[in-house]
Amino acid sequence: MNQIYAPWRIEWVERDRDPIDGCPFCVLPERGDDVDARIVARGEHNFVLLNNAPYNPGHAMVIPYDHVAEWGALADDVMLEHGRLKAATIAALEGSSGPDGVNTGMNLGGSAAGGSIDDHIHTHVIPRWDGDTNFMPVVSDTTVIVEAVDRTYEHLHAAFGDLEAAVTVPPIEGDDADAADHTAGAVRLSF
Ligand SMILES: [Zn+2]
Repeated sequence: MNQIYAPWRIEWVERDRDPIDGCPFCVLPERGDDVDARIVARGEHNFVLLNNAPYNPGHAMVIPYDHVAEWGALADDVMLEHGRLKAATIAALEGSSGPDGVNTGMNLGGSAAGGSIDDHIHTHVIPRWDGDTNFMPVVSDTTVIVEAVDRTYEHLHAAFGDLEAAVTVPPIEGDDADAADHTAGAVRLSF
């Protein structure tokens, strides 16, 4: 009998420095350093965040800027772009790491659905390989995971930049990015 498959139980884990006060999905896009925040791409209404505790390398989340708990609460243009950005994320994963398949899904309704951030909706996009296994127990050392996420960010950033929807592809500069530019680092997409 197969186990119920829920790779998105760990949604987002705070790193030690820069503790977040409030909703991470609201705070991170306003930080002014998308590379440090692990925001790899941005649309007009949604952004793509790499998971700090990935199920697999490339585990990303598509997130609206609006802090809403219900999928149906999104305006039509936000929802449409959410779907477009999800498709772009799948395309970027295929371009960067060539997975055998992709899981995508949402946890709605909090702990019963497996989510830990249940008041700001987000869609998980997780690359899968034949015979893969949960990345976290395999690579359980935090430093290794952070370095792995850094490399994933670079590869995925390049792959988003190759998409037709990419309109701005800033260099990856990290900590010294201009704090006045809230989009510093992330690939800007327009659909
Ligand atoms: Zn929020």
